[in-house]
Amino acid sequence: MNQAGIEYMELVKRRSGSLMCLIACLCVVCGAGKEVSLENLRENMVKKQIEARGVSDRRVLAAMRSVERHRFVPDQHITTAYEDHPLPIGYGQTISQPYIVALMSELLRLDGDEKVLEIGTGSGYQAAVLSLLAKEVYTIEIVEQLGKLSTMRLKNLGYTNVAVRVGDGYRGWPEKAPFDAIMLTASPPRIPQTLIDQLADGGILVAPEGEFNQELVVIEKRGNTISRRTVTYVRFVPMVRGAREP
Ligand code: SAH
Repeated sequence: MNQAGIEYMELVKRRSGSLMCLIACLCVVCGAGKEVSLENLRENMVKKQIEARGVSDRRVLAAMRSVERHRFVPDQHITTAYEDHPLPIGYGQTISQPYIVALMSELLRLDGDEKVLEIGTGSGYQAAVLSLLAKEVYTIEIVEQLGKLSTMRLKNLGYTNVAVRVGDGYRGWPEKAPFDAIMLTASPPRIPQTLIDQLADGGILVAPEGEFNQELVVIEKRGNTISRRTVTYVRFVPMVRGAREP
């Protein structure tokens, strides 16, 4: 190769070097841009879907801003993770609408010292939100694969005060009872007495109740008095009974 040819090859090498560099830089910018836009989507979700509908507990709003919902949905739903509806998570189950997650969290009136039980771990998203609002979270999932996946996901994301158990939520978690707060994210025909029994004095339980027409119910225990009120109407997946349940 003559001198002109060698110089030309050098130029091509230098150009392709800077081209590679340019591509690498663009990827970083694109990557960062994607993160920023998911953050924007999350902020919009909190403002437009949650604050605008009346959820005002500052700690709940902060938790909803903090937990990256897109990490709890299957890959094909990442771009719609911050929209105003539930999403499929596999096994016929869904992650709840963000507003309902925030509303139910607010209804528990947590201040950070509580022990909380959740029935229906699903993706682990609600458990992650609760973990930022309470001291300890215990959550039960009946579908083994979902329970295992959520255990890993919550651990990898650093939510260390959450314990996941695969089992039937109708039994509650007697070894850890009583709970200051209990949340059901699957709907039983009637709220199980076993779960009301596992509520501490002064505790609050929030749950959907019913089969087709479901009410979102708040139960409060004060000594021997159990009070109950309906907050709104909702649609959750059914709370199913475990195989060995009578
Ligand atoms: N809280 C979840 C969404 C719940 S979907 C989230 O944040 O993603 C309801 C979940 O309840 C489903 O995963 C379903 O498998 C589970 N479930 C239904 N019946 C149950 C039972 N008896 N005990 C425990 N989990 C149950």
